[in-house]
Amino acid sequence: MDTAQEALEREQLLLQRQELQQDIVLLQESLRGEVDVDLDEGDPDVVEREKSVALLAALEVKLASIEDALRAMERGTYGVCERCGKPIPAERLEVKPEATMCVTCQAEVERLLKRGLVVQRPRWGLDAEPGMEEE
Ligand SMILES: [Zn+2]
Repeated sequence: MDTAQEALEREQLLLQRQELQQDIVLLQESLRGEVDVDLDEGDPDVVEREKSVALLAALEVKLASIEDALRAMERGTYGVCERCGKPIPAERLEVKPEATMCVTCQAEVERLLKRGLVVQRPRWGLDAEPGMEEE
């Protein structure tokens, strides 16, 4: 990976991280502000609130992956798949600078996540839970 490209991607990641952190703070504040809302079932505010909670969770996952990528840059392992150790193609990093896994591993992990065989953690649960076999 050439340094100029990495510097550019670092900029982009830092910017994205800043935006995400702002969004997260705003969402957290709006959620706190709604604590007094009547929690009757079917209340449209509750639906909105649930949407905000889901969005917040998604933003936090994204933020965690950006921080992972930034840490990888500091360690000098940016652009290397953290699962299989192969280089991540530059084209992929251009589209998705926060990627810390190659397409193959990412797809595999997402497949396992969907099946509940791994738990999503900020540092990506890469190992299947012990004792859990494929059906
Ligand atoms: Zn990989």
